[in-house]
Amino acid sequence: MVSRTAAGGGPARPWVLPGEPTVVRLMNTIWADRAGIRDDLSAPADLTAWLASAGLAHGVGRVTGDDLDRARQLRDACRRVAARITADPRPAAASATADLHAAIAEINSVAACSPPIARLALRDGDLQRDTTPLGHALPTALATVAADAVGLFTDHARPPLRACLAPGCVLYFVKDHPRREWCSAACGNRARAARHYRRHRPGADPQPDPH
Ligand SMILES: [Zn+2]
Repeated sequence: MVSRTAAGGGPARPWVLPGEPTVVRLMNTIWADRAGIRDDLSAPADLTAWLASAGLAHGVGRVTGDDLDRARQLRDACRRVAARITADPRPAAASATADLHAAIAEINSVAACSPPIARLALRDGDLQRDTTPLGHALPTALATVAADAVGLFTDHARPPLRACLAPGCVLYFVKDHPRREWCSAACGNRARAARHYRRHRPGADPQPDPH
C-alpha cells in the first residue's frame, strides 16, 4: 500500500502506509515484498526524503551517514518496543535492537533533544503556530518522532498499535477502526487467500505481494 507524493520539489517516491502516525511511518520504512525485506532508509538522501514526507524537514540541512545511523537506531528501537506491545510473533519483523531496555534508552536519548517549542508567529496579519527548531534541526526532528513514540506506546486512550499478521508482512498499523485487522486491503486479501490455501493445500502459503 503506497502513495506517491512529491516532497520538497524532489522526485515523487512511494512510502508505505503514509496515513499512519509519524513513528509508525518511521517503523514501516522496513517492509517486505516477494523479494524479501526492504529498507527505505538505505542512504542519507532517503532520510532527507522521508523527513520531507513526514513534514519534519524544515531547517534540516545536509543529512550525513551518522544522521542516517541515528534515525535507523531510533527506528529499530521503536520496532523493538512495538514488538513487545503487540506481542509480535513474526520472526521476519524482528528488530535489530534485541534488548528492550536498550531500545527504551535509545528512544529516551533521542527524545531528550526536545521537540521544537511551539511559538506564536504573525504572518500577513494572521497568528500562526511556529515550530521552527531553535537549535540543530535534525536532532529535534528525530525528537519529534521519539515523542510521538512515547505517546503511541503509553497513551491507552489512543487506538492500539497492531502488527499485521498477513503472510510475509512486517508492517505495523494503528487499529483506527474496530474491524481493521490488516495493514492494507492487499494484506487482508492475502490473509484470506492463505486461509483458503491452508484449507485445501495444507503446508502451502501464497507469497507476499509488494506493498
Ligand atoms: Zn500487512
